[in-house]
Amino acid sequence: MESPKTLQQAIVFFSDKDRAFQYALNLRWPNGIVSCPRCGGENHSFIKTRKIWYCNPCKQQFTLKVGTIFEDSPIGLDKWMTAFWMMANCKNGVSSYEMARTIGVTQKSAWFMLHRIREVMQPRTGKLSGYAKDPVEIDETYIGGKAKNMHMKRRIAYQNGDKKAVVMGMRTRNSREVRAMVIPNAKRETLQNKILENVGWGSRIYTDQHVGYEGLNATRLFVHQTVNHMTEYVRGEVHTQGIENFWSLLKRTLKGTYVAVEPFHLDAYLNEQVFRFNNSGKKMNDTLRFEKAMRNVAGHRLTYTELTGTGSATSHSESAGTW
Ligand SMILES: [Zn+2]
Repeated sequence: MESPKTLQQAIVFFSDKDRAFQYALNLRWPNGIVSCPRCGGENHSFIKTRKIWYCNPCKQQFTLKVGTIFEDSPIGLDKWMTAFWMMANCKNGVSSYEMARTIGVTQKSAWFMLHRIREVMQPRTGKLSGYAKDPVEIDETYIGGKAKNMHMKRRIAYQNGDKKAVVMGMRTRNSREVRAMVIPNAKRETLQNKILENVGWGSRIYTDQHVGYEGLNATRLFVHQTVNHMTEYVRGEVHTQGIENFWSLLKRTLKGTYVAVEPFHLDAYLNEQVFRFNNSGKKMNDTLRFEKAMRNVAGHRLTYTELTGTGSATSHSESAGTW
């Protein structure tokens, strides 16, 4: 069974439900040993025709979807896997309209699916760099439109009536790893707390001359160097062009594909863009990126209520098989 390499191949490949099932099975339990998501046990019997397992100790059945981001979704794995493929590999993201057309679900279903996929695209934990030889570029940017053009609900969501959301980004120079997060403001305390949380001690840090970064050298935890953007963009090794490139990619995606992003969801969009960026090295390709995203499906859940803050999860019911 050869893996698909392009979106067209993926659509054809996963449209065969048995093949999609087998592929997802191999990704979830790579060593071939299926364990019950409830008790972790391996004492079960597989009912082939229905693609379900019956766990003997639990006396309950489970499917491939139980305990994953797909749990309780009526949409078939064939569609889910094509959706994962698109999200992992479309450089500028995928709108819910485009996804809906491609896999044949409603726009509302596609929107919810896309958010569930973003949920498994969270960056790794642990600190960046920690080595003087792998400097960390740090910068902030502002995302969002003019408040007067916004719907009231969105306007309130911005902190303290600020017109734009503040996003902080970090990128390691040589290992090319990005982290990006929404922060409440660009004050010194906020910025430097994030640096302490995310950057390994001993790292060299490059920023512009924003006052929010002043005093980092005094901590003796980092070696901090700045570039004065009034007069220069690059001073030898000292510049922030890597993270700035990430900002332009991000803004292209947000403007081009996701015309209106609610501030409430901005972190999820950041995770998506960071996932694709951090998995775009020379050793990566579309198949591996897709598999990497799919491997994270276990242990993640996202309910419609968590996502929207409302209880109305009424109209995203499409039936496309039970597994
Ligand atoms: Zn069990």
